Amino acid sequence: MQMSPEQLQMITSQLATLKEKSPFYAKKFADIDLSDIRTQEDFEKLPFTDKADLREAYPLGIAAVPPEKIVRIHSSSGTTGTPVIIPYTKKDVEDWAIQFARCYEYAGITPQDRIHITPGYGLWTAGIGFQLGAERLGAMAIPMGPGNTEKQLQMMEDLESTVLCATSSYALLLAEEIAKRGVRDRLKLRKGVIGSERWGHKMRARIANELGVELYDIYGLTEVYGPGIGINCKADSAMHIWSDYVYLEIINPETGELVPDGESGEIVLTTLQKEGAPLIRFRTHDLSRIVPEPCSCGHNEHPRIDIIFGRSDDMVKVKGVNMFPAQIEEIIKFTDGASSEYQVMIDHMEGKDILTVFFETDAIGEDLAAVEAQMAALFKAKMNITPNPRGVPIGDLPRSEKKTKRIFDNRY
Ligand code: ZN
Repeated sequence: MQMSPEQLQMITSQLATLKEKSPFYAKKFADIDLSDIRTQEDFEKLPFTDKADLREAYPLGIAAVPPEKIVRIHSSSGTTGTPVIIPYTKKDVEDWAIQFARCYEYAGITPQDRIHITPGYGLWTAGIGFQLGAERLGAMAIPMGPGNTEKQLQMMEDLESTVLCATSSYALLLAEEIAKRGVRDRLKLRKGVIGSERWGHKMRARIANELGVELYDIYGLTEVYGPGIGINCKADSAMHIWSDYVYLEIINPETGELVPDGESGEIVLTTLQKEGAPLIRFRTHDLSRIVPEPCSCGHNEHPRIDIIFGRSDDMVKVKGVNMFPAQIEEIIKFTDGASSEYQVMIDHMEGKDILTVFFETDAIGEDLAAVEAQMAALFKAKMNITPNPRGVPIGDLPRSEKKTKRIFDNRY
């Protein structure tokens, strides 16, 4: 990915004072003279910043401003141990709102819209980001937070919500509930903005069909503002990433080397304007690829990435084969009669890895056996693995309001 002259300028001027402002980077880059960084090539030699580095700086060691400049903190959940705290200045909060409002605009959302926000409010960045953007745009924010389906549907109807913001699993849960109750005609929903979770094409199609809305994927992570640093436009499913706020790179997660544009790898982000907690070459562990073709919407100043197809730490090795959730989703997508929900169990018995794939289906009896056989054949053909496919009735697998865990490795 070619760094633009504006981005290079923003990066070099940031690096000029970085060590002075940030004790964290003064220590991390102690052996590097940052005034030597003058080109994209120089920049690409800088070491990565990882979540573990940020965790070590707990609670406020990452701050690059005096405490009186910090107006808010957020915290990324982190699956284990110490959380990461990210401080925001007034400008950071404003910049986040500007980016989020731009996301809504790219999705064709206007001040006339009523935005129903179901992601949670609190230490994490979800709900409040959706709200900031709505207010900045001038739309009506309906700050629901997650849970209480009954009340969600009531408010959606009474307040005539036109935009649903949710995680993909919660959007699916609501879509199913709306279908079950037959209340779709009483709702005014026209668009969905789905945040921060990898999801398959099949699930996307199900939510879009059941809700009868246009869906948009929004990208972001707490360490880099939160959701709202990019979204797909009307033209395509690839997401534009705001090049005036972040510089995007894609690396091979195993070697750390940059991959050519178009090839898959891990997203690495550098913030260009952030004051509270600037990040240089931050490894997101999200897997995607740069979509090099120009977008027909014409906004080619903002490069595009494909929908997120996994986490580099979600990769599991089964029977010696590297496997990503996206590959499993792809196989499920091509299995006739299999719905989008699935759960994978990996066990180790009698010296062998056993892969059991639970999926939802309407099929029973002989039809079910045929669906399972087709899925097994697809796994064999595409990944050279023979799994145990197990079809279960639609609705049997757990749905959750937060991110749904789908792969369970029971071997260790
Ligand atoms: Zn576009």
